Amino acid sequence: MTSPDRIAYFNGRFVPERDVLVPFRDRGFKFGDAVFDTTRTFGHRIFKLAEHVERLYRSLRYLRIDPGVAPARMIAITEEVVRKNLPLLEPDEDYWVTQRVSRGIDPAYHDVWAQEGPTVIVECVPLPLRERAALFRDGIRVMTPSVRRTPPECLSPRVKTHNYLNLIAGDLEVKARDPQAWAVLLDTHGNLAEGLGSNIFLVHGGVLATPREQAVLAGISRDTVIQLARDLGIPVVEKDVDLYDALNADEAFLTSTSLCVCPVSSVNGARIGGDVPGPLTRQLTDAYCRLVDFDFVGQYLKQLG
Ligand code: PMP
Repeated sequence: MTSPDRIAYFNGRFVPERDVLVPFRDRGFKFGDAVFDTTRTFGHRIFKLAEHVERLYRSLRYLRIDPGVAPARMIAITEEVVRKNLPLLEPDEDYWVTQRVSRGIDPAYHDVWAQEGPTVIVECVPLPLRERAALFRDGIRVMTPSVRRTPPECLSPRVKTHNYLNLIAGDLEVKARDPQAWAVLLDTHGNLAEGLGSNIFLVHGGVLATPREQAVLAGISRDTVIQLARDLGIPVVEKDVDLYDALNADEAFLTSTSLCVCPVSSVNGARIGGDVPGPLTRQLTDAYCRLVDFDFVGQYLKQLG
C-alpha cells in the first residue's frame, strides 16, 4: 500500500515518503527511544486530532524529549499532511495518521549527520480495511499469551513509545497458535491488560468493565466508548478484570483507532456470549458511528464483497 506520490513531513519539510531517510544512528532506530501517536480519518475527516496530539505530548514529557515543535504547530502540520494526501485516497478508503518523534542522533555522531535535536515525522497510510474486514463479521478470537504486559513499575504502559517488543512478543506467541487470533496480554498480577494496539472491554449484566488506565495505554477509542456509554446511561467501571471475568462475560469487544469497536467472539478458545456482536456492543457501535457521522462497520464489511 505504498504510494510513490504520498507526502510526509520530515524535520521541517514536506517531502515524498521515499525521501524520509532516518540515519541508522538515530536513537529511535537504535533503542526505540521515540514516541508516536496515531489517529484516523472517517470519510476523509480527521478524528480527535487534538486529543491524540495531547497524548503524544504526554508521552514526550514522560521520556523527556523536547520535539522543538509546539502542539498547535504539530496539529497544523498533521492537517497539512492529510490535506496533501487526500487526493490519493479512493472514496471508500481512509488514512491512519501518525506523528513520530525520536530523540534524534547523539552529539558524538554530529560530525557525520548535521542534524541536531529530535527527528520529527508526520505521515499517513491507508487503513488495512480488507485485512481486518472479516473481524467485523466473525468477531475477534482473543488469546492471552504467557508473556505479561510490562508493569508500570518498569515502564509506564500509558506511554506510546516506538518499542512494542513486549506486545509483539505476546502477539507472536498467540499467532503461532492461531494465525488469526489477537493477543491480549495479562499484567503481572494476572489481570487482563491490552493488545498490541487495542484495549479490551467486558460486559456483565449490562455493566461495562475495562482495565484501569495505570496498567494500559489510555486509548482515545477507549475514552470515546466510556463517554458514549455514560451518555447512553450504561454503567462503566475501570477495574481489574481477569480470565474468570472474561470467560463469564456476556459480551466482549476491543477498541482501537482503526477498529473503533470490534466484537470478540472467543477468549482462549472459549466462546463469549451469544450473537456477535452482542446487544450492548452493537448499541455502542451504533453510537460511535453517529458520533463520527460515518458507518465504519459498513466500510469494513464492504471489503468482503
Ligand atoms: N493499547 C496500545 C498498546 C496501543 O498501541 C493502542 C493503539 N494506539 C491502543 C491500546 C488503543 O488506543 P487508541 O484507541 O488510541 O488507538
